[in-house]
Amino acid sequence: MWSTDREVAVGDVVIIWQTRDIIQPLLITPGKDFNSRFGHYRHADLIGIPYGSKVGSRNGKGFIHVLRPTPELWTMALPHRTQILYLADIAFITSWLDIRRGSRIIEAGTGSGSFSHSVVRTIGSAGHLWSYEFHEARADKAREEFNRHGMADIVTLTHRNVCKDGFTVTDTVDSVFLDLPAPWDAVDHAKKALRKDCTTRICCFSPCMEQVLRTVSALNDAGFTDITMYETLLRPHDVHQIPAALSLSEIIDRLKKSELKREEKRLRQIANSSKRKRDDSVDGVDQEEGGKKVKREGGAGGKLEEEPEVLDTTVEPVKVVFEGHMGTTPAPGQVSKVNVSKAIQEVRGHTSYLTFARLVPTPAENGVHSSV
Ligand code: SAM
Repeated sequence: MWSTDREVAVGDVVIIWQTRDIIQPLLITPGKDFNSRFGHYRHADLIGIPYGSKVGSRNGKGFIHVLRPTPELWTMALPHRTQILYLADIAFITSWLDIRRGSRIIEAGTGSGSFSHSVVRTIGSAGHLWSYEFHEARADKAREEFNRHGMADIVTLTHRNVCKDGFTVTDTVDSVFLDLPAPWDAVDHAKKALRKDCTTRICCFSPCMEQVLRTVSALNDAGFTDITMYETLLRPHDVHQIPAALSLSEIIDRLKKSELKREEKRLRQIANSSKRKRDDSVDGVDQEEGGKKVKREGGAGGKLEEEPEVLDTTVEPVKVVFEGHMGTTPAPGQVSKVNVSKAIQEVRGHTSYLTFARLVPTPAENGVHSSV
């Protein structure tokens, strides 16, 4: 996968890191330019620089970092042709499916190839990924990327409707990952593709509970066991720098105070928003417009304004969780700082539910024959 050379070369795919939210891939092509709000760059100027370099723009407008792609960076930078799998789910699926060096895996559909890149790095050249995609243009684009990223020997990409036509291998793979709108239609096909000489695994990724229930029924009917559903949610951590001279209890006090201030502000917003709503309903001016609830300002015919978001009024007690405490030795005359992190209470990030199951071969499938 990708270049392992120290320096950027012609034809390399590099990751251009501009900000935490602006990360994009770039194919180094002499004669081409890269322009962004962080300045103007010539690809030719990037050739020969070490990966990881910070490069200033030609017009002095800013700088970029030129990074070597990894599956993690690729997931953050790739061109989206579909919804994709993100790292928290990828890591969990990889672990539960026991994907490791040398594993043989099926995935359907390929989509934008986010999951594929991580799988290929994990299984390495001793393993194999059979990837299926029924949208022809998406399949072609993914194939082009897999070739450019040096993955062609490890991935076999087939343009195919797996729910209708099944997979191209039988009794071969260690695990199957289905990221499809109707995974239940592919469960029997998946069973055929899984090897029968050991316990194998399956994972189905579905955004809603109705889909999960249909998948669970199909898995049960097909004889899968240990059916378990998980949801991966991310809990971000707020990291602060605080003078090291403070004691731990003083640090906790400060964090609690800032948390309380934020909470008070939130409650004030709720109170104001409820008051505004009461005033509006007295005038009877709540309206539905284009499916969105709106409030008219200044009576009928006035300016349309979106209704403020209704916030959850349940106030949880302030909880401060310390996850790390890194001190540095201060230089003479310098105040040292420590990094403290606080888990943010609100947990966001639902993408889908993950339904896992195992297929344990029967003694007959395993080559063990009863003497009865
Ligand atoms: N896991 C992918 C990733 O991480 O980039 C994203 C997969 S995307 C959400 C789902 C893909 O499945 C779409 O590209 C769609 O065209 C494909 N698909 C849907 N039904 C299919 C089927 N029956 N057979 C093969 N591919 C299918």
